[in-house]
Parts: sequence; structure tokens; C-alpha cells
Amino acid sequence: MYNAKAFSAASATSPLASTTIARRDPTETDVQIEILFCGICHSDLHQVRNEWSGVMPTAYPCVPGHEIVGRVTKTGSAVTKFKVGDLAAVGCMVDSDGTCPECRDGLEQFCPNLTLTYNFPDKHTGGVTYGGYSDSVVVDQRFVPKVPTNLNLAGVAPLLCAGITTFSPLHHWGVTKGKKVGIVGLGGLGHMGVKFAHALGAHVVLFTTSPGKKDDAIRLGADEVVISKNADEMAKHAGSFDFILDAVSADHDINALLGLLRRDGNLCLVGAPEKPLSVAAFGLLFGRRSLSGSPIGGIAETQEMLDFCGKHNITADVEVIPIQKVNEAYERLLKSDVKYRFSIDMASLKTA
Ligand code: NAP
Ligand code: ZN
Repeated sequence: MYNAKAFSAASATSPLASTTIARRDPTETDVQIEILFCGICHSDLHQVRNEWSGVMPTAYPCVPGHEIVGRVTKTGSAVTKFKVGDLAAVGCMVDSDGTCPECRDGLEQFCPNLTLTYNFPDKHTGGVTYGGYSDSVVVDQRFVPKVPTNLNLAGVAPLLCAGITTFSPLHHWGVTKGKKVGIVGLGGLGHMGVKFAHALGAHVVLFTTSPGKKDDAIRLGADEVVISKNADEMAKHAGSFDFILDAVSADHDINALLGLLRRDGNLCLVGAPEKPLSVAAFGLLFGRRSLSGSPIGGIAETQEMLDFCGKHNITADVEVIPIQKVNEAYERLLKSDVKYRFSIDMASLKTA
């Protein structure tokens, strides 16, 4: 084991603060990565504040962070995929059994023996996993995608969660040219959803509660912007969408969105609000509509997404912050006051 610097929360009501954690030395299939940037996902905030206590209660101290990009500093003797100095990334998962039907299909996100990057039992240390608000991390090479070398690294970090979480359902539900696609909420996930849906050739409509984000939405690739609290604007789109991706982090009216789907249309939730949402049956019955959900994506698809981003020069729009500003950033995230993802410059941890 070795000591790593990190930021952790001691309880659901404590701010994140500087700490030292123990990491394992690399095993033969592990890579050790010096973390350069880590994105701040709204899931980090839900988890740190124990808002998902019913599904995934938080173990403290909690070191969040699952949008990690960095450089390999050590490799185990059996590592073939990386050499020291290579760029490397880590997303929401760090291990799975590798043998179940889900893993064999390359869908590790559904493995019953999955290990998430933080707040999950750690098979190696016997404690819990610690995430990317840290100077380094040690992960099996199987869970470490390669990073295209032509992209800005601060903007690459968010691809590892916000990117794959939007890329995967857009692909799974066949978003292509000729489809009318809605993206709900222009936050970290939503702005990646707009970029990907646009790159896939769809007609993209962004639903927002923030009128001030209209111009940005168009710049990011939306063809139209609808203020979701304006019933008249919503009514113009009734019954017209093939697919809507909902990336909202808080309670909101999904029945208003179901009514915008055409026959056999699908509303897919990627947002994970603290409390259950209510669904009116008639919104589904009329039009034989579906309500679905999607978690992150598998490792092969994550690599595909990163390669797609390299080819199309896509990264997240980020505000780079030092780790000392992380608590302030959480408060701003709650006010939807970030364009459109915070990315922590981990060099700042050296002086924290
Ligand atoms: P975020 O950056 O905070 O974005 C959320 C957006 O939702 C906001 O920018 C805002 O957009 C909209 N919003 C916020 N409060 C709202 C309200 N009361 N009513 C309507 N709209 C509201 O968060 P994020 O990091 O993108 O994450 C979004 C959600 O996805 C979180 O719940 C997160 O935990 C979840 N998530 C799920 C997965 C998965 O695997 N499925 C992965 C990552 C994250 P506007 O200002 O445009 O209205
Ligand atoms: Zn996330």
C-alpha cells in the first residue's frame, strides 16, 4: 500500500476537505495513474450528501470522482495495454467478474459483481473504493480506456461519465439522421447529449428551465430550444419526438415530456433525482409510449465514445477549478451555475 492525497467528506453534512488515503500497489494487471483532471458529476454531490441512501447509502469518509483522466506512472508485469507516460482514463467502474453473461456481452455496467469507482466494497483493501478527487488511482487495465491524444484533457475528463451516459442510450435507441430528439436539462450530461445527438445527425431540441442558456444550446448543436416551464412552447411539440433523453437531477414533471412523444416514442431517464417521480398511466397508454432508463455504458462502448470524440473533436465545455474550490462548486452546481462541467485541475492538490 502507499499513501495518496485526496479530498473526502466525513459525513453527509461535512464539506470536502484534504486527507490522506491508502491505495494498493499495482498488481500484475494494474496500472497506476497520476490524475491530471477529474470532473464533478452531480452524482458526486448526491452521493457525498447521502441523497441516494435508499439505493446506495454512502460510507464515510467518501472520496468521490469518476471522471478521471491522467498519465500512467506504473504498470504491473502483465500489463500490455499501457506503458509509463501514456494517457489513461477511468470512469464509473473499476472491476467486474468478467465471466457473467453481461460481462461477456461487454455490458459490465450490468454485472451483478460490479465494483464502482467510489463508495463500493473494495476487494483489494477490504474497505471501500476511493474515487478521483485524488492525486493517483490504481485500476485493472481492463477498466482503463485509452485517451485520444488530440483533445484538451480538462474537457476529456467529463466524457468518462457525462459522455458515456449520454452516448450509450442515444446509440441503443437508434438516434440517427431523420430522428427528432429531445434533451432535457443543459447540465453536464445534457450538454454532452446535445453534442452527441447533433453529431449523430438528429434534429435536436433542448428543454431547459434556464432561459439564459438558449444561445449556448444552439452553439452546442441544438436546432431548437424550449423553455420547459412555458406550456405554450411545450404544446407546439406535442406528439412529435422519437426519443427524449432526460438528464435532470431534481424533481420535475415527466408527464409533460411523455406527452411530447410520438407513437412508440421513448423517454429515457439518465438523471437520478433523490425522490421518485410520478407517472400518469395515460401518458404511456396513449401512443404506446415507453419510459426507460440507462446507466453509464460498458468499457468497449466507452472506448468507442472516446474514439468518436477524438475523430469529431468533441470534449465537454468545462470550467477548470482548483480542488480548493470544490465546495463552492457544489453549491453552484445546485443552482445550475456552471457552463457546463467543473473539471478539477488536480495539480492544485499538491498545495492543499
Ligand atoms: P447537472 O450538471 O447539475 O445538470 C442537471 C440539469 O438539470 C441542470 O443544469 C438543469 O438544467 C436541470 N435542472 C436542475 N434542477 C431542475 C429542476 N428542478 N427542474 C428541471 N430541471 C432542472 O447534473 P449532471 O451531472 O448532468 O447529472 C444529471 C443527473 O444525472 C444527476 O441526477 C446525476 O446523478 C445523474 N447521472 C446519472 C448517470 C447514469 O448513469 N444514468 C450518470 C451520471 C449522472 P437547465 O438549467 O437547462 O434546466
Ligand atoms: Zn457521474
